Amino acid sequence: MIKEITAKVLLSSFKQPDDWFGLKYNMNLYRGCQHQCIYCDSRSECYQIENFKDVLVKANAIDLLRDELSRKRVKGTIGTGSMNDPYMPIEAKRQLTRRALQAIAEFRFPVHIITKSDLVLRDLELLQTISEVYAAVSLTITTADDCLGKKIEPGAPSVSERFNAIQVLAENGILTGVTLMPILPFIEDNVENIRQIVTRAHQAGASYIIPAFGMTLRDRQRDYFYHKLDGLFPGMRAEYERRFGYQYHAAANNAPELERELRSLCQELGLATRMPQYSRSSGEQMQLFK
Ligand code: SF4
Repeated sequence: MIKEITAKVLLSSFKQPDDWFGLKYNMNLYRGCQHQCIYCDSRSECYQIENFKDVLVKANAIDLLRDELSRKRVKGTIGTGSMNDPYMPIEAKRQLTRRALQAIAEFRFPVHIITKSDLVLRDLELLQTISEVYAAVSLTITTADDCLGKKIEPGAPSVSERFNAIQVLAENGILTGVTLMPILPFIEDNVENIRQIVTRAHQAGASYIIPAFGMTLRDRQRDYFYHKLDGLFPGMRAEYERRFGYQYHAAANNAPELERELRSLCQELGLATRMPQYSRSSGEQMQLFK
């Protein structure tokens, strides 16, 4: 179901830019997500999204954004893509993300986008304009295998399409890389998967890989995930229950080894493992640091 809602506020602010992506502000133009990844953390009760498969469209989002940007005194990176995918299928028609980027370009704010969709390429020219200040696009890739990707991220474009999006973005001068998160225990936490993702990201022209070796598991998110495991990976649920019980964080098996492998391969290939972030003082993109 798709429904329009009216939001009161669009941008949330962080006191200090966050460590991972250097965000000062965050925006969600939609609630719910059509990509329907089986592990999605946004199903957790704390986010109060009752039916995660429904999409709520913030009909007044662009008016709110323009008004809020005109009153912001601190210029800082605006993030989007943590609670829903800004390029899920409905965006092709509604164009909220596109219109938000137009406003961000006009007000000359920096932006960081997280997505699993190559629909981001539609907005390439806008991203090039915003890049004069700062624009970064992180494609989330958790497996190098298209078939496994379809099972666990059923509504999202294929993994290969995401690598292709990285290539096009990089060729057109947009800072781009991979958010390699989550890494699902027993399913994706093998060295071969990590090596393949890093290697293909490098071949596509990515500048960075930001990993997280494990996943979250809480209340509704865990219930949904386990229900999906029963259908997709018979027997796997018991492994999870034995290993993690009701823990919030489920670490990847051999996380230290996977991390060593990732860091050493990234170093060999010249990929950063931290985001090159917007620098407020210079207004320019910082040098890559590894
Ligand atoms: S794309 Fe992101 S927000 Fe959407 S279902 Fe997948 S993990 Fe959740």
